[in-house]
Order: sequence, then C-alpha cells, then structure tokens
Amino acid sequence: MNPNRRCPYRQQAFQPSPYRLHQGVCSQAECQRHRRAEYHRQKIRTDPLYAQVVRDSRRQWQAEHADYQKAYWQTHPEAAEQNRTRQRQRDRQRRVTNLVKNNLALDLKRSAAEVWLVGSEAASLVKNNVAFSEVLVFQRVASSVPESCKEQPPGPGDVLPV
Ligand SMILES: [Zn+2]
Repeated sequence: MNPNRRCPYRQQAFQPSPYRLHQGVCSQAECQRHRRAEYHRQKIRTDPLYAQVVRDSRRQWQAEHADYQKAYWQTHPEAAEQNRTRQRQRDRQRRVTNLVKNNLALDLKRSAAEVWLVGSEAASLVKNNVAFSEVLVFQRVASSVPESCKEQPPGPGDVLPV
C-alpha cells in the first residue's frame, strides 16, 4: 500500500490515486488548480513555443473582448495603473534589448562608442542577457580626436587654413 503523502499546498496528508502513483498534489479542486497554474507558469518559462501560443491566444481573446477589457480597467483603477507600469517596463526593456543587440552587432573595433550597463540588475543581464534596468551609451570622445585637431599654440611660420 502507498504511504500517505503531504500535499504541498495545504500540507494535509492524502492517499495517491491508485491510477496515478506519482501524484504529488491531493485531489482537492483548489490544490489541482494550483498545480495546473504552476505547471502553466513553468511551461511558459521553459517552452518558447508554448509561451508564444499563450501570448497569441491571450491577444486574440483581448481583441475579441476589447469592451470587457475597457470596462475592467475602469472598474479596477489599481489594476489599470499596475498594468500601465508593467507596460512601461516592458517597452523600456524592449528598447534596451534592441539597443544592446544592435550594439553587439556593430564591429566594435570601428566604433568609438562604449556600452555601459548600470543599475542593480546589470549583473543579471550579463548572466541572462534578458533582465536588466538600464543601458547607457557614451560616446568616447577623447580617443577619436585626431592628433592634428588638438589645440597647439601657433608657432612662427604657421600657415593658418582659410
Ligand atoms: Zn492539497
């Protein structure tokens, strides 16, 4: 006989179904909802195709229920504000990602520009190439000034260009 197991969601002991010997979550509806939601989130993180299908069907649903969405934002101002904030973050992240991609595509030997990653999450950008807060691009001026343009006191016999 199977030993009792403990459900991770409500900590209660349960008897696995004889048909699903590896069952790790009890069969209460709420716990099963948790389990499916967790699987879904995990799958979105690890399976790009699955994530794309989820995004597409979400977009399609939103397109077909634009009125519902509008009414929802109107009756849930905090959620609307949160959504705006998240959208701004996504927009910014997309811009910065493109910026980084374009800069990495440059032949750096011919470019005087340097990319500096700053902010608390710059370290994780280096690791994941995905999550970060800010990218600043500085033009390196000093080394790109040709020697002949540097200021020199005019000596005797110097011909100044017209
Ligand atoms: Zn449970």
